Amino acid sequence: MREPGFALYIHWPFCKSKCPYCDFNSHVRDGIAQERWRRALLAELDHAAAETAGRQVTSIFFGGGTPSLMEPATVAALIERAASRWRMAEDVEVTLEANPSSVESARFAALRQAGVNRLSLGVQALDDRALRFLGRGHDAAEALAAIALAERHFARYSFDLIYARPEQTLAQWQAELARAVALAGDHLSVYQLTIEPGTAFATAHARGDWAVPDEELAGDLFEATQEALATAGLTAYEISNHARPGGECRHNLTYWRYGDYVGIGPGAHGRVAVGSDKLATRRFRAPETWLGAVERQGHGLEEQIPLSAAERAEEMMMMGLRLVEGVGRARFRAETGAEIEASLDSRRLADLGDGGFLIRDAQGLRATAAGRQRLNAVLAALAA
Ligand code: SF4
Repeated sequence: MREPGFALYIHWPFCKSKCPYCDFNSHVRDGIAQERWRRALLAELDHAAAETAGRQVTSIFFGGGTPSLMEPATVAALIERAASRWRMAEDVEVTLEANPSSVESARFAALRQAGVNRLSLGVQALDDRALRFLGRGHDAAEALAAIALAERHFARYSFDLIYARPEQTLAQWQAELARAVALAGDHLSVYQLTIEPGTAFATAHARGDWAVPDEELAGDLFEATQEALATAGLTAYEISNHARPGGECRHNLTYWRYGDYVGIGPGAHGRVAVGSDKLATRRFRAPETWLGAVERQGHGLEEQIPLSAAERAEEMMMMGLRLVEGVGRARFRAETGAEIEASLDSRRLADLGDGGFLIRDAQGLRATAAGRQRLNAVLAALAA
């Protein structure tokens, strides 16, 4: 198993409009003081770097929100500052999330110039009706144009799709997947539509405006996804993520392998080992609160707490079982000082194995495809 790496996450909390399914920390504002935000992000980066001096950064990820709305000069300044504060791995992966609107696509060349070497595009659907339903600010033609531009400017690019949409049939989804495969680079993320509390979709869904596919159809859609993408060489390496060999998102692998990461910007989380402690960090979530804190004190940290061995074990299971490779024994031991079995009930472990949801062997513990598809239930059973 590869080393988990050390990652830097930078959160840009603004979007042009709020998508009705989204529960991310994203906000719509009339005007954004780009220079003020640049100074604040740079200040928080400096603060975080002082606490993790000497580490080697293996990936940087600009997430959001919509970081393709950041000025490329801000992106460049942050990458440059990170390289001056930490050692950078020779093959450091620098990803930026982008929406496929024409305004943002026009920035791709400048973002590449700024040091971004991997683009993750929020395409979500290749169908205008579905895009309208999802409240996206782009149509299918813009998505195709953005994918073509991404391919031109970036050696590595990925795009996201959302399935299990209301009224979606298996045949329609298979046709959309075939089109996606033809457009894909080295990576594809395919998420099942989930109704998140507090979103506009949660209200519409509760009102009965529409229904999502039932469990059986959702299961068929999941299986069709696995099959179509595996056949195309984009093998699943995580519940919703597929890649050609070597195309896996190294940044997200750091999270799932429970490596250390620094998170800066509003609401960003981090996990950083300091001595024998692993600290969980969380920044102020509201953009203006975070900005005010950074301008006053140089950072927007709201909370920094050491995790107990039991909490680390639980988090590691939660993250690692998302991956096809699962949780490795050596990594688990190094992180928690105990064996995988020590924190789990042997009877439940055996039941989940017999049920075809988990596999336990000399390498460690991993979920089967059926287990990954119902991971929340598997984790709940393990924790019961
Ligand atoms: S663009 Fe992305 S982050 Fe922004 S509201 Fe839509 S889904 Fe959420």
